[in-house]
Amino acid sequence: MNTFFADVVRNEIIAYDTNHITFSANLDLQFSAGQFFNLKLQNPDKTSKIQFILRGYSVASSPQKLPIFELCVKIVKYFEKNEHTGENIGEEKKGIGSGFLEKLKKGDRVEFLGPFGHFTKKNKAKKTVMLATGTGIAPMRAICEELSEEGFVTKTVLLYGVSNAKFACYSSFFQNLANLHKNFEYVLFISRETDEEIRKVEELKIVENIVSGRITKGVEDLSVEECVNTDFLICGNPAMVKQVRGILRQEKNVEKSDIVTEQY
Ligand SMILES: Cc1cc2nc3c(=O)[nH]c(=O)nc-3n(C[C@H](O)[C@H](O)[C@H](O)COP(=O)(O)OP(=O)(O)OC[C@H]3O[C@@H](n4cnc5c(N)ncnc54)[C@H](O)[C@@H]3O)c2cc1C
Repeated sequence: MNTFFADVVRNEIIAYDTNHITFSANLDLQFSAGQFFNLKLQNPDKTSKIQFILRGYSVASSPQKLPIFELCVKIVKYFEKNEHTGENIGEEKKGIGSGFLEKLKKGDRVEFLGPFGHFTKKNKAKKTVMLATGTGIAPMRAICEELSEEGFVTKTVLLYGVSNAKFACYSSFFQNLANLHKNFEYVLFISRETDEEIRKVEELKIVENIVSGRITKGVEDLSVEECVNTDFLICGNPAMVKQVRGILRQEKNVEKSDIVTEQY
């Protein structure tokens, strides 16, 4: 495990409240696609005994790009609540880590620790089904970028779920991979748009395969045969991870050892 510094190369808004940040590391780093780094920050609460705070962020780019690495960050927003009435108090606030990352400019220097985590593709010879919601797409992007560099030797399916189209990240990136590699399939699930809205997104012709509904629909639709000898990588909110894992284990006879998860 390393502590290292990285300089911001670019900070771009790529979807609603979501930034893609490119860094250049000043250390001879190594990591596996799917792993995360911890952002290390001074605790803004000066009255606290804890001097530093850490926040995990999955690397969204292939290790081949080092010393460049990229993060996909959802800017967390919230209101403090009145403890008795539950009503919002004061102005909207931003999360400590994500609010810090949102403001970064080219040339800013940031401290990280890592790499960490076991959310990686273990067996390159097996088929893969990846399931992601929200910024759970970050490690999938790193893994897909790496598999693309290797030519997608085995069948890989990415099912990506968002509530609204405005939250979808990297649509062109994944669609381009699907156009280039016959072994890679990309399906975007949108759960909270009307049919009319989904038609409008389809008309943009960025993503070829859009399904109205939650990602669990895609998992239900997999046949038991499709799940044999397949690795499942699941990343997103805890409720989705639990539900998808449950369907795979109980309805599709998938072995525990064939499922790897990461939850934010
Ligand atoms: C392994 C791992 C990988 C991750 N990868 C990514 C990634 O790739 N991209 C990504 O965007 N995130 C990722 N995360 C999540 C990330 O680590 C942070 O949890 C996230 O960015 C929020 O941190 P924050 O400091 O911005 O928010 P915090 O300041 O920690 O706030 C988090 C939440 O706490 C609540 N809250 C905090 N203070 C108050 C208060 N005073 N009153 C009321 N509510 C409050 C808010 O609801 C807010 O939503 C990952 C997490 C893990 C564990």
